[in-house]
Formats: sequence, structure tokens, C-alpha cells
Amino acid sequence: MSAARPLASDAVVSAQAARPVPLTLAGRRGRPPRHLADLDLAGRRAAVADLGEPSFRAVQLSRHFFGRYTEDADDMSDLPRASRAALGQALLPPLLTAERELSCDDGTTRKTLWRGFDGALVESVLMRYPDRVTMCVSSQAGCGMACPFCATGQAGLTRNLSTAEIVAQVVAGARLLAAGEIPGVALRGGQGGSSPRDNTGRVSNVVFMGMGEPLANYANVLAAVRRLTDPVPEGMGISQRSVTVSTVGLVPAITRLAAERLSVTLAVSLHAPDDGLRDTLVPVNQRWKVAEVLNAAWDYASVTGRRVSIEYALIRDINDHAWRADLLGSLLAGRLAHVNLIPLNPTPGSKWTASRPAAQREFVRRLETHGVPVTVRDTRGREIDGACGQLAASARP
Ligand code: SAH
Repeated sequence: MSAARPLASDAVVSAQAARPVPLTLAGRRGRPPRHLADLDLAGRRAAVADLGEPSFRAVQLSRHFFGRYTEDADDMSDLPRASRAALGQALLPPLLTAERELSCDDGTTRKTLWRGFDGALVESVLMRYPDRVTMCVSSQAGCGMACPFCATGQAGLTRNLSTAEIVAQVVAGARLLAAGEIPGVALRGGQGGSSPRDNTGRVSNVVFMGMGEPLANYANVLAAVRRLTDPVPEGMGISQRSVTVSTVGLVPAITRLAAERLSVTLAVSLHAPDDGLRDTLVPVNQRWKVAEVLNAAWDYASVTGRRVSIEYALIRDINDHAWRADLLGSLLAGRLAHVNLIPLNPTPGSKWTASRPAAQREFVRRLETHGVPVTVRDTRGREIDGACGQLAASARP
């Protein structure tokens, strides 16, 4: 039981020491330009009125952007020709430029590398399944949480993304789907999938599991959740229940999120059930311990009625011991929670790798013995470095 612990800690400490200093930006500094998705509908009406336009133009622009994913005012035929340029400049400035697109899984997984107005790089991943389409979005360029097994954690934080920069990643995915550019996946048995002639689809789920710590960019992420889930024309009309915010465990922010009374799913990146190991795998644990993080999660579950997802990357001989499965099981038994096991995606240069199949099976079995629901995450996007923890755009411009 004790043998692996000092070993694991040493390994992590040396990985942390080797981490490069955060990148400085070569490009422009400051904030991304204001975009209509940064504003609620009242704010958009005010912005439109500032241009001397009738305030209902705000609804027109919003329907185009959130309902039809149009971002070029020239394509908005219900706007007077003479007003289009000014409205577009004021409320639809270009935010993210697609720098590179990669796809795999027969085109059903698509990763986009985006460049911001200042040169900052972020990534998003679209994953189409037979029954849903999930967009995995970034909330920050880089990340300040320094988890040693995560590619993004290695380079440090560049900056927060604006609300509109977060929303724009989802809108871009929705646009690809609406245009039929992402092939449908037939359900086994032939039902429900798109026909070969109609590949169009919609974004059904959004997970804040790309680059960044969403709760460290609280205000912009919360506004993005509202834009994504408010109905057209306020927002995109995605169900709150289909949005997952994933966090390292920033306890005050989890408490604050619970008080918003949203129905979004909370995912907590636990990765270890004991403080000794979690202090190294998720360094913010030095501030908020496992028990505090889990208490905040249970409060979230009781306030929202939503089952909390406990994320656990299985790392060979580091956190995949049978005793840790039992400890995790005892912490979660009887709670409104399920465990999402993620086979570790080794990051470049990492000495860590995924658990052996037998260890993974035993981990699952022990959790189930405690009555804890558990699933093993699929590893979509591996070949294009689009899988969990591999989004590290700044390292591969
Ligand atoms: N900052 C947020 C979102 C980050 S990414 C958070 O930590 O929750 C989403 C998930 O991928 C997190 O659970 C994260 O710990 C996990 N992850 C990061 N690197 C990984 C890797 N190399 N292999 C498997 N999962 C990883």
C-alpha cells in the first residue's frame, strides 16, 4: 500500500521542475474585440442603438449568428445594405482564425487549431457519434494549473478566452455540421444515423475539457454557458444538461457555480483519492484537499440534482492500484456521482503511460463492488493529438 506513494511523488516533482516558463505573446496585447456573443440581448440592443440603428437589429443579428451560424453581415439579407458594414464591424469582428484542421475516425472527429487576435493558439474538437455531437472547447489559451500529466499544463497560462471566443468554437462546429461537412455515423442496426445524402447535424453537447481551467475564467465561462444554452435569439439553445464544466477543483468557484442554479453537469478531475498523490498530480490540491473538493461536489449535486462526474486518468503504477480503487469507491459510495476513467494519453516526453488492461479492469471491478457507476472514456482523436490532455497548441504552431 505504501510502496508506490513516495515513488509517484518523486516522479511528479521532477516533472514539475522541468516545466518551461509560460510563453510570452509575440502578438498584440489586450482584450479580444467585443463581439455580440459577449453581450446579452439587452447589451446587444444597446450596442446597436449606439450605432443609430433600431434596436430590433440586435435580434436580427443574433438570429443569424446563433441560429444560422452566419458571421458575415454581408450575408444578412434582411439588414439594409447600408447598415451591414457598421453592424458587422461593431458586433461581429473576426475573433478566431482556423489555422489548421485535422480529422480522423472517418471524418467524424475534427480538431481545429485556432489563432486569436493576438496570436494566442487554442484548440477545439468536434466528435460526432450516432446519437450526439460533442464539442470539446477551450476556455483559456494555455492553463495555469500545472498538472504534470497534461500537455496544456506544461506550458503555463497565456490568457483567458473571452466569452465570444469560447462560443465561437461551438458556432464553428455547428456551422460545419449544418453544412453537412461532418459525416454522420449510422447507429448499429441502421436506425437514427444520417442518410448518405443528408449529413447535416447539430451540436448536442459541449464539454469544457479543452485547454484551460474553466473555473479560473469564471465570468467569461459562465456567460458562455448562458449564450450556449439560452434559446435563439439570446443564444444557441443547447440544453443545459448537455453542457459539462470540468474543473481541477477550485472549491469557491464550484460553490459559486452551484448558486447559479443551472443544470449543467460538473466534472471534477480527481485523479487520486488521497492527498499525498493528488498534491502532485493536481497541484491545486495543495490548496483545496480531496475532502474539500468532494464536499463542494456533493453540495453541487444536492443543489442542482445533477450527478457529478469524477474524472480519473488511469496512469500505470502511479494511481491505478487496487487500494486506490477501494479508497475512491469508499469516498464515492452512495453519492450522486459516477466515475469516468480516462486511459492516460501520454504527452510527449512523459515517462507515464496508460494502465495495463488487467489493472484497468480491476479498478473498474472494485469501484463497481462499492456500487459506484463507472465508465471508461473512449479515446477519440488520439491520432490527431485531439484526445484528452493532448491539446497543447502553443507547442506545435
Ligand atoms: N482544467 C479542466 C479541464 C481540462 S481537460 C480540468 O482539469 O478538469 C479535461 C480532462 O482531461 C481533465 O480531467 C484532465 O485532467 C484530463 N487530462 C489531462 N491530460 C490528460 C492526459 N494526458 N490523459 C488523460 N486525461 C488527461
